[in-house]
Amino acid sequence: DALDRIQALEPKIHSFLHITADYALEQARQVDAKIAAGEEIGMLAGIPIGIKDNMCTQGIPTTCASRILENFVPPYESTVTQKLKDAGAVMVGKTNLDEFAMGSSCETSAYQQTANPWDLSRVPGGSSGGSATAVAASECVVALGSDTGGSIRLPASFCGIVGMKPTYGLVSRYGLVAYASSLDQIGPFGRSVEDAAILLNAIAGYDPNDSTSLKLEIPDYTKSLQPDLKSKGLKIGIIKETFGEGLDPVIAQTVQNAIDQLKSLGAEVQEISCPRFRYGLPAYYIIAPSEASANLARYDGVKYGFRTPEAENLLEMYKKTRAAGFGAEVKRRIMLGTYALSAGYYDAYYLKAQKVRTLIKQDFEQAFEKVDVLVCPTAPTPAFKAGEKISDPLTMYLSDLMTIPVNLSGLPGMSIPCGFDDQGLPIGMQLIGKVLGEEQVFQVAYAYE
Ligand code: GLN
Repeated sequence: DALDRIQALEPKIHSFLHITADYALEQARQVDAKIAAGEEIGMLAGIPIGIKDNMCTQGIPTTCASRILENFVPPYESTVTQKLKDAGAVMVGKTNLDEFAMGSSCETSAYQQTANPWDLSRVPGGSSGGSATAVAASECVVALGSDTGGSIRLPASFCGIVGMKPTYGLVSRYGLVAYASSLDQIGPFGRSVEDAAILLNAIAGYDPNDSTSLKLEIPDYTKSLQPDLKSKGLKIGIIKETFGEGLDPVIAQTVQNAIDQLKSLGAEVQEISCPRFRYGLPAYYIIAPSEASANLARYDGVKYGFRTPEAENLLEMYKKTRAAGFGAEVKRRIMLGTYALSAGYYDAYYLKAQKVRTLIKQDFEQAFEKVDVLVCPTAPTPAFKAGEKISDPLTMYLSDLMTIPVNLSGLPGMSIPCGFDDQGLPIGMQLIGKVLGEEQVFQVAYAYE
């Protein structure tokens, strides 16, 4: 059914860079065989899933939507996709993204433009746009995305589904192509909070292959799914600063209504100030490009991926390979990062940004002395028109204003649908938890849903 649906919808939506039909049918047959033999099946047995094309899948192309990895077929499997295989999930394809996960609209993909299923002339959000549209349009049941500055939560909000970025270190990054390693985290998309909880159960956990992976017992997140918030005495804080200038009034109103509903479910709600929240965006655009400039140095045409055939010597080969292999946004990030890390500017930019990062973290720590979960809009606007922001990077970057501080602080964040604007476009509400506060986030999300 999922493959039929993909065939019918892909000409309009373009969620997938590679559709893995044969592979999916083989995985499904294996599940069938296990059932027939009376063997135990995994928690995701037979569930069609989409995987963002920046997670390595052995023997299946992994391009990061970049020309430089056009012919790259990983010789190994990422930890998350291995866990999904073990749980019996059926991968139907690799989904479109902004090139190397750099973008907020899926428009920097070197291969195709993904359309928002709610209005095909609009973007799905990015960078995990293809995963979000595949779930929103029922091309698969759940999907994985990665979130460095909002790349799961923003497309979830633009496409009217649930998307979660877990606490940094909860899910292994082994086999996730690195963008900004201190911020990257893999997480689930689902059409319901329960689906997201089940998928997180399947992928969370310690992995010796990722040195930043946390060594701890993983709770069963579906146990947090309770119908109301009364019994727990849950305290919710509204981040005051996110309701200021630049926020679409329809979003302000819709999220406010959702907060009223949380009150009626028994939550204690108060306003909270995070005064340094707004410095997250500028700090991020120093830190993320700096890490990216180092991480992307490996694409030199020597080890793997694309190599220009037109070079006379090694230096020329490097230059021409990178000039032809990377798109404009990726080049912009490499230049920004290289500049910020250069000897004369390191203290003024990179070091300063790291200090700001600490201050933002402190704002959150103080907030979480008073409340259990923080609430704010996921994005300042609903899905915008394709082409509207692509030539203006600064405007595009503003889409992540409210999601970025969460990555800088390593916290769990989730976007859940909370209504529609007057044109019928979905609006997302962001729930932010303490470090490893996933359970409380799920609790609030499920009670609200
Ligand atoms: N839009 C942000 C960026 O371009 C975030 C992307 C992401 O989370 N991967 O960096």
